[in-house]
Amino acid sequence: MADCLFCRIIRGEVPSRKVYEDENTFAFEDLNPQGPTHVLIIPKKHITGLKEARAEDAELLGRCHLAAAHIARERSIEDGYRTVLNVGPRAGQSVFHLHVHLIGGRSLQWPPG
Ligand code: 5GP
Ligand code: ZN
Repeated sequence: MADCLFCRIIRGEVPSRKVYEDENTFAFEDLNPQGPTHVLIIPKKHITGLKEARAEDAELLGRCHLAAAHIARERSIEDGYRTVLNVGPRAGQSVFHLHVHLIGGRSLQWPPG
């Protein structure tokens, strides 16, 4: 999508610190990290958010999560990390291109705020 921030990051029009990329997904460091590891994993296909995802996107959602697990393994944070999808403005979604947050490298509280 032309004016979507994360689509522009995938195209390299907006700089980012890339962590991982494959045919379907792209991952980069969050600009405002909430922990020692805070990576955003996004599908290369523009999907606005989880509530806009369709049945045909099921595999892509799984691939984003598997990419998160791969990055967590590489970073040796498997003793505790969290994957989060903020859905809708009341949950804090501020960028409307679906993204999985991977947060770890510190103790995480439950329930989240
Ligand atoms: P949300 O609040 O939508 O769940 O998450 C959006 C995330 O994107 C936030 O954690 C925010 O720090 C991050 N973010 C916003 N703009 C940029 C940007 O231009 N570059 C990077 N790397 N992260 C961004
Ligand atoms: Zn997009």
